[in-house]
Amino acid sequence: TALLTGKYAVITGAASKRGLGLATARLFAQHGATVAILDLDGAAAKEAAATLGEGHVGLTCNVTDQNSVKAAFDGLIAQWGRIDVLVNNAGITQPLKIMDIAPGNYDAVLDVNLRGTLYCSQAVIPQMRAQKSGAIVNMSSVSAQRGGGIFGGPHYSAAKAGVLGLTKAMARELAPDNVRANAICPGFIATDITAGKLTDDMRVTINAGIPMGRPGTAEEVAGCALFLASDIASYVTGSEVDVNGGSLI
Ligand code: NAD
Repeated sequence: TALLTGKYAVITGAASKRGLGLATARLFAQHGATVAILDLDGAAAKEAAATLGEGHVGLTCNVTDQNSVKAAFDGLIAQWGRIDVLVNNAGITQPLKIMDIAPGNYDAVLDVNLRGTLYCSQAVIPQMRAQKSGAIVNMSSVSAQRGGGIFGGPHYSAAKAGVLGLTKAMARELAPDNVRANAICPGFIATDITAGKLTDDMRVTINAGIPMGRPGTAEEVAGCALFLASDIASYVTGSEVDVNGGSLI
């Protein structure tokens, strides 16, 4: 059965072709949702939305810019009359060591991953509260739980740990209005962030640290997002769900 029939979902950073956001958008659309893809590049977002079929929307949005966020979300609320699901997926990484993080690096990574999550959530919360229903799904990372990882950088770990704190605080505050907030902590997933940047040796080392012995797929993260976004997770809030092939066991 379709799990999101009649629901309206916004997914940020979902224009990237092999990314977690577009895989999530695809699965949500297959489950009956009307989806808006928001990304820095509006043309790419429109193109990605068109691949989902009729009625889906692609919009330019810079999640670090409150005016850009407000314009995108206000437009969608005017068009749809409601928003049921927000997936805060936009994120960037920088493979830096602690002493190499310059102020500008720190700002950029904190801004997209953490500030963007706050701004987009603030843009939907009044509407979700008025509806007395809504689900917010935030992309954190195993980097938040374990520190490091070869792609993220310590500031990325900090930003994604911040996302966990923000998720729990939002879940607590929004629970009386039946608005849920949960975080997904993907482990090592094969996407553009990781593709083509690995030597065979790195691949062997990474897989050795994963009990399931392989990277995850974008679709495997999307499945978790579908669960958290849908009404079958109606009593799940404030949780962080690991999608990591057992990496933390
Ligand atoms: P990706 O780079 O393929 O996609 C990220 C998207 O975010 C891109 O389309 C990019 O244009 C967009 N974006 C960047 N800055 C933006 C901004 N300011 N406003 C709007 N959009 C912006 O990344 P991905 O691998 O699909 O990762 C998706 C999310 O999952 C990220 O938050 C990432 O940190 C997280 N994550 C990924 C992995 C992994 O292994 N791939 C693991 C753990 C967590």
